[in-house]
Amino acid sequence: MNEVAPSIDLGEMAGRVAGVMGRVRMAALRAGRDPASVTVVGVSKTFPRASLDAAYAAGIRVFGESRVQEARDKLAMPLPADATVHLIGQLQTNKVRPAVALFDMIESVDRASLIDALAREAAKRERTVDVLLQVNVAREAQKSGCAPDDAPLLLDEIIAAGNLRCLGLMTIAPLVDDPDDARKTFRDLRLLQEELRQRHPEVPLDVLSMGMSGDFEVAIEEGATHVRIGRAIFGTR
Ligand SMILES: *Cc1c(COP(=O)(O)O)cnc(C)c1O
Repeated sequence: MNEVAPSIDLGEMAGRVAGVMGRVRMAALRAGRDPASVTVVGVSKTFPRASLDAAYAAGIRVFGESRVQEARDKLAMPLPADATVHLIGQLQTNKVRPAVALFDMIESVDRASLIDALAREAAKRERTVDVLLQVNVAREAQKSGCAPDDAPLLLDEIIAAGNLRCLGLMTIAPLVDDPDDARKTFRDLRLLQEELRQRHPEVPLDVLSMGMSGDFEVAIEEGATHVRIGRAIFGTR
C-alpha cells in the first residue's frame, strides 16, 4: 500500500482529480472526440512525493516533472508499475544520463546538441527513448522550444540519430487572460504536426502535448492528446 503523509487530504485530491477529469471529458465531447483519447499528465513539480501518491490513488497514472534532480529524489522509491513519468522541463546535456534512466518520455527536446546527447545515451543503454519535439509556436523571447521553422530539420535529426522515437510535439502557450487567445497556438501546433507528417509519413507523431491548468479545455478542442495539469490537481505552487 502507498503511505500517504497525513498533511495530504486524500478526499480533497480525489475531488480535484475528478473535477479535472470531468472537464476533460466535457471538452472532448464538445469537440466530438473520444475522452479516452486525452491523457492527463499530473504536473507534480515542487510538490512532495506524498502528493504523487495521493494523485495516483485518485487515478492519475502519468506524472510530469520539470527538474531531473527533484524527480530523482522523489522517485527514489519507485511509483507503482503502471505509473509513468515525463520530463517537461528544460534538459541540460550534462543531465541526460539520469534523465534517460528516470523518465518514460522526454517532452522537452528542442535542439540538435540535446538530440545527439540523448541518442548517444540511448545507444549506450541499447534502448529506445521516447521523445517529443518541443516547439516555441508563439516565438516568445525567453521560452524553451525550437522555432517552428527549425522543427522539420530537428525531426530529421531525431529520426537519423537512431535509438530515439519521436512520438509527437509539445508546446507551452503564452500566458493570456482569456484561454481563447491560446487557441491559435494550439491550432498552429496541430498544423505543424500535419506538415511534419507529410514530410515523414513513416513517423506516427500522434502526440500533441498542449494545454495546462488555465487553457486545457481549449487545447482539447484543438486536438491535444496530452494535457499537462499542475495547479488544478495539486494546488497553487
Ligand atoms: C508547470 C508546467 C505545467 C503545469 O502548469 P499549471 O499551470 O500548474 O497547470 C505544464 N507544462 C509545463 C512545461 C510546466 O512547466
